[in-house]
Amino acid sequence: MHFTTLASGSSGNAIIVGEDNRHLLVDCGISGKSLLHNLSQINLSCSEIEGIVVTHEHVDHIRGVGILARKLQIPIYATAGLWEVMSDSLGKLAENQRIEVKESFSCAGLDVLLYPTSHDSRESYGLKVSRPKRQNKRNLTVGIATDSGIITEDMHRHLQGCDALVVEANYDDISLQNGPYPAYLKRRIRGRYGHLENKQLAEGLLEWIKENTQRVMLAHLSKENNTPEIALSAILRILRDSKRSKEYSEVQVQVAPRYSPHELIRLME
Ligand SMILES: [Zn+2]
Ligand SMILES: [Zn+2]
Repeated sequence: MHFTTLASGSSGNAIIVGEDNRHLLVDCGISGKSLLHNLSQINLSCSEIEGIVVTHEHVDHIRGVGILARKLQIPIYATAGLWEVMSDSLGKLAENQRIEVKESFSCAGLDVLLYPTSHDSRESYGLKVSRPKRQNKRNLTVGIATDSGIITEDMHRHLQGCDALVVEANYDDISLQNGPYPAYLKRRIRGRYGHLENKQLAEGLLEWIKENTQRVMLAHLSKENNTPEIALSAILRILRDSKRSKEYSEVQVQVAPRYSPHELIRLME
């Protein structure tokens, strides 16, 4: 099983999860053209994408969804509530491209579980993507959660013990405080329905990382209120200063590039 980010941040988000030559795309917040370009940079064929799962209706998550679905003739998976608010932005779709899902479904041969995050959109979800159990193979899982103002109980429940995590480290509170944003926007970001601060995420990681966890990808970093260096050092410091520091030191923590794809990350069996 493998995964990576194709773009990450408020200018657009897209994550790939797959196994062998079957893939699903989580969000497409960049243009269809940029997405295809980014895919080709990591030598992944667009014909191997079997569907797009949408986490919420903000433009940095759906910008290229409609156009890409039409181009590749693949379905879009979203909840009824999200279909209601995003249908107009996606443009014309064939009936069989509009798949209304509840909390669990399968796509590209993988099991997908949606759970709510806390964000100022109509609805917003994190995902747990698992490879179905097979003979002699472990049940690998990739946990994804961006766009949440707080760490919810559902996030705790579903992100614990994932083999890989793609999780939001949106802002550094001091940078936000001293940064250019107007007060209302600062309040929105810090609020219950905004985004996660670096140290907030680190507190979550202390619980979520278990023995089997191999990789953590820090995602959706703010361009104005964070940097990869600040996020990494704040989070690694908290992991290092904890009681389980030795265990945490075995996990590879990285930052998802904003505009370009990260190379495909293959999970160890
Ligand atoms: Zn959002
Ligand atoms: Zn977002």
